[in-house]
Amino acid sequence: MRTILVTGGAGFIGANLVHYLMEKYPLDRVVVLDALTYAGAVENLPPDMVRSHDSRGSLWYGDVCNAALVDTLVGEADVVIHLAAETHVTRSIHDSLQFFQTDVLGTQTIANAVARFGRNIKRFIHVSTSEVYGNAVANMMDENHPLNPMSPYASAKCGADRLIYSYWATYKIPVVIVRPFNNFGPMQHLEKLVPRFITSAMLDEPLTVHGGGVAARDFVYVEDTCRAIDLVLQAPGELVHGEVFNVATGEHRTINEIAHDIISEMHYSPARIEFIGDRPGQVVRHTGDWSKINRVLGWKPSFTWHEGLKRTIDWYRENTERWSRQLWLRRIPITSAMGKKE
Ligand code: NAD
Repeated sequence: MRTILVTGGAGFIGANLVHYLMEKYPLDRVVVLDALTYAGAVENLPPDMVRSHDSRGSLWYGDVCNAALVDTLVGEADVVIHLAAETHVTRSIHDSLQFFQTDVLGTQTIANAVARFGRNIKRFIHVSTSEVYGNAVANMMDENHPLNPMSPYASAKCGADRLIYSYWATYKIPVVIVRPFNNFGPMQHLEKLVPRFITSAMLDEPLTVHGGGVAARDFVYVEDTCRAIDLVLQAPGELVHGEVFNVATGEHRTINEIAHDIISEMHYSPARIEFIGDRPGQVVRHTGDWSKINRVLGWKPSFTWHEGLKRTIDWYRENTERWSRQLWLRRIPITSAMGKKE
């Protein structure tokens, strides 16, 4: 029986991963450390995990920067999967302090704990992001693409990504860095693009698109990312320690195409797309090269964009009450949501 510590497990990818791991590994124990910021929700987690610290799992409501707590949890774990982060690019443009605090210093706290107290840690998976690459200088972005983060969020994640690599180089802790491209699927916060468009369509509100909607991204269905993380978890150390793996589909879609796909899937009127000013630090295009993870671990995407989109729309249709609770955040200006007076 292993104990798998998942930081940020009450967020979008984290919660999907917790469900995936608990289903796939019934003999393992999953421990979640999450600060339950506006982006995390206890409802995302299996109810038994929240109700009691039982043999299958438990939730620790705490901060990844809390070294005493992190040291204890890491000391009791066999595997660490680190996802906790501030993740919304637009928010990072208005106030980035919390991003550097959580994404860089939180990562340093976890990495220190693994180096000092993680005697039993067999694997430490750091979930980085394709945002570290910035604008594409090559048609397909592989793991050797230059790192030119374009937003404060991306630069904080880039700091964390390289910090983790330096801990591998210096302390030889068993790290693997995973760089997923844009994820979508159930339980994603309404502030993110795909759920924002889906729920705008359901509420009969306009779909607002930054710039001309020409920015393009590589969208991965979240279950495929969970499977990639699982393969990294299972792989022999000599194949993966100190390595970086992209998780991508190799296809990109513009924001306009995404809006139109959602409109047509939901039978909604195209006249309802509204264009607003471009976001500063916008990345023009991301298309991920996933040949390394395919070659080394046999991973490939199993959901097409349209299959993933149908499943995602179904989830938002079936869980209206749950996501409605997040609407207040979308209804007030982002600066006032962050307590900042302009
Ligand atoms: P999310 O915003 O949905 O969830 C983040 C979680 O971290 C939340 O549950 C939040 O409460 C928790 N958290 C925030 N600050 C914390 C702190 N100080 N201590 C403990 N917990 C804290 O994010 P997500 O979309 O699930 O992303 C998870 C990870 O994957 C992040 O590291 C992100 O950078 C990375 N990633 C996300 C995507 C994507 O498209 N969603 C793509 C690539 C990489």
